[in-house]
Amino acid sequence: MPGELFPSLSASISVALLRQVPFFFVFLLAPETFLAAQFYTMHTDNSFIAEAKAKLRKTLRHKRRALSQEICRTLSERITKRLVATDAWQRAKSVALYIPKRNAEREVETQLLLEQAFAQHKRILLPRIEAQNTLSFLPWTPGDPLQQNTFGILEPYPAKEQKQAIDLFVLPGLAFDRQGTRLGFGGGYYDRALARESQACFAGICYSFQLLPLLPKAAWDQNVDLICTEDEVLCL
Ligand code: ADP
Ligand code: MG
Repeated sequence: MPGELFPSLSASISVALLRQVPFFFVFLLAPETFLAAQFYTMHTDNSFIAEAKAKLRKTLRHKRRALSQEICRTLSERITKRLVATDAWQRAKSVALYIPKRNAEREVETQLLLEQAFAQHKRILLPRIEAQNTLSFLPWTPGDPLQQNTFGILEPYPAKEQKQAIDLFVLPGLAFDRQGTRLGFGGGYYDRALARESQACFAGICYSFQLLPLLPKAAWDQNVDLICTEDEVLCL
């Protein structure tokens, strides 16, 4: 239930509000100015946002790790069926996907998506961590060798191929909200990579419990255009 996620968030909000006690008199004298300033501060104070994100990551990671592998597989199949039926998937000639970690994280599985993309003659790209914590997306065909990066994620070997446009990015996430905000693992890798990809469609895939009403959002957070869970496809 999304409601379970909010005690830690409301605790953070309470602390932030307590810090504002000295401004109580401003509230008495000019309530509109006070409320506008509060709203602005809460949405621009990066340490407040980072703290709220860290708490949500912990809760959601815990919840996701509690899924059995069987449930994870069943839900991933339903997510795949919904995603491949979208216009964004059907139109895409090139798709950036990811390979989930082979551990207990229970990220949405992408095996079926990779198979569908290959069967439908789409160009598949997978992320690779490069210098300065950037991501590049390299072409990959099922059967090509992969190597583990420092996070234990499988990624393609470096390629000399020239960069080509990517039509659709399928993104993992710990949570998304109904405005398209994405919460990742905290490295900001996709934010930096997607900032350079203004033409592409960004699709987040997650289980329905990871789709929340509202997430904390920093200035650099890149929104997604579409969110696909086992229960719904949300076009933004
Ligand atoms: P995630 O998107 O993985 O949930 P965050 O959005 O919290 O992670 O970002 C993590 C860090 O990445 C931030 O502290 C920020 O400094 C850095 N970051 C993200 N995007 C950019 C960017 N476009 N330019 C510079 N730094 C960035
Ligand atoms: Mg981010």
